Amino acid sequence: MTKINSLEDHATRRFRLAGKAYLESGDPFFAPIDSLRKEAAANGRRFVSFANYDYLGLSSHPAVKSAASGALETFGVGALASRLVGGQRSLHHILEDDLAKFIGTQSALTLVSGYLANVTTISHLLGSRDALFIDELSHNSIVSGAKSAVAETIIFRHNDFDHLDFLLRERRESYRNVMIVAEGLYSMDGDIADLPRLVEIKESHNAWLMIDEAHSIGVLGAEGRGLCEYCGVDPQRIDLMVGTLSKTLASCGGFIAGKAAVIEWMRYTLPGFVYSVGLSPVISAAAAAALQLMQTETWRLERLRKNAELFVDLARESGLDTGPAIGRGVVPILFADSLDTLDASRHLMENGYYVPPIIQIGVPKDQPRLRFFISASHTEEEIRGVIDLLARREPVSTAPALGAAVAP
Ligand code: PMP
Repeated sequence: MTKINSLEDHATRRFRLAGKAYLESGDPFFAPIDSLRKEAAANGRRFVSFANYDYLGLSSHPAVKSAASGALETFGVGALASRLVGGQRSLHHILEDDLAKFIGTQSALTLVSGYLANVTTISHLLGSRDALFIDELSHNSIVSGAKSAVAETIIFRHNDFDHLDFLLRERRESYRNVMIVAEGLYSMDGDIADLPRLVEIKESHNAWLMIDEAHSIGVLGAEGRGLCEYCGVDPQRIDLMVGTLSKTLASCGGFIAGKAAVIEWMRYTLPGFVYSVGLSPVISAAAAAALQLMQTETWRLERLRKNAELFVDLARESGLDTGPAIGRGVVPILFADSLDTLDASRHLMENGYYVPPIIQIGVPKDQPRLRFFISASHTEEEIRGVIDLLARREPVSTAPALGAAVAP
């Protein structure tokens, strides 16, 4: 008889293979953090977080909070149904119109998360005679979308558009529609795609282009309008943008944006929109208020830029490895191995900074790092302080025994 494999046994084994041993000397994850500088309930100490993507420092802004509480009073909490069959709220339209205007597209549609936006859009758009070309470092939501699509997925080397062009030359003719997916600001490396080149390639191969602007809205470009503004490309040349309300927009939820005809079709057919609830009025109001603030309190973007540039300059001067980061909202610091990364994270935690290690998940296993989200609300002293701690830390030696506990 086959031995029964309980779900509990299965989970325990899989977690061990995924590197659970790293947690045994203290769990750096899921710390109780209520805001950037609050008392940490766990140890009663104060620490500064570089682990939250509140790029412009809007999540606790009085105008965002009062928009949210006003909507709560007027409309209650829930959206109550899918908008197609249950009706929608004026706040949904306001937010979507404002988003489309800000990004420079004709239309936008919100969904309950950015993750869902990627998964459902990618799998919905492409059929069995189509292909998807994605960057090897794509966010997991893009990979999940690709896995759920019936179309073939072809992976190009990170930001290597000669490789993409080569693959398209070789294979474009075999498919009906092809879509290329890239990101605005890569969430683990803080680098960007060469968008003018990408647009040229997409146009020459008659492909669609989707850009995930999750980390670039409010971060890139003179006014924070994203990768197009940063690279001087007309947003109308991008077929589809995907974004989130959870980062600069200080809320929760996702969106897609593009030509009116495309978004109109999605409004009636996109499974993740049609078969899921609309955004809560509370978070719609908060995100709409944050979007307004981005355009009125423009000093925030300037402050973010200065903070991020200071961070990256100090790190590089100190000999820390920031990889290809361009010095905007996301900057990684790479370490020799997972053990050294864990040690660096603990060292920061002991000295008042919260930066959990990125090991095993979300990055190649041989490229562990601390990933810093820089915010307009960080002070120069905090930035200098965290870099100084890392610069003066002695690296720990590597431990093959721990590495051996990790899945092949
Ligand atoms: N795309 C990218 C590039 C992301 O980094 C993330 C979240 N970290 C998402 C999509 C998902 O966004 P959300 O948090 O709204 O689900």
